[in-house]
Amino acid sequence: MRSQQPMTGADDLRFSWELAGSSATYRIADGASEHSAHVGYCTDALADLLYAVTGLYGGSSGERVSFDLEPVEMRWLLRREGSDVAITVFEFPDGVTSWGSPDETGGTLSWSSTQPRSALGHAVLEAAESVLREHGEAGCLEKWMRYPFPVAALQDPRRLHRRGDDCPHEQCRNHPDATDEREG
Ligand SMILES: [Zn+2]
Repeated sequence: MRSQQPMTGADDLRFSWELAGSSATYRIADGASEHSAHVGYCTDALADLLYAVTGLYGGSSGERVSFDLEPVEMRWLLRREGSDVAITVFEFPDGVTSWGSPDETGGTLSWSSTQPRSALGHAVLEAAESVLREHGEAGCLEKWMRYPFPVAALQDPRRLHRRGDDCPHEQCRNHPDATDEREG
């Protein structure tokens, strides 16, 4: 049997995104606890997560992203708290009725953690990049079927993280994005 893809991340926070046929399993863990979910392919889930992370680098005080677990909805709320991000994950038993609802009524808290934005950004970006490295664009589309790997959605948060987070990891710190204001 193939061993599981190792979780990537800074400090205590670890995150992984593992593609299977027409689904993916994500795992997120801090030093205290772990949460995982098996996400269906009907939404562009990894892109949605990357867009939410991107929002944390703009003026937004909070972002949300919903994962379709068919029928369960798993909803992540990402709330800026200074240089940290409070992550709370709510589970809704019936995604058909809860999807897009304005608040967390009817949801159950599944997991929460407060982490530096740098750690969250790094962990999510590394996980996305390792999916692309492992499967390639063609392999990702073959597995997820409905959406291609979100190459474009990865660009902005990667640049913003390297430039704005003062990430301690070598591959971010030494990247030209971290210092060079000009592109191309
Ligand atoms: Zn980094």
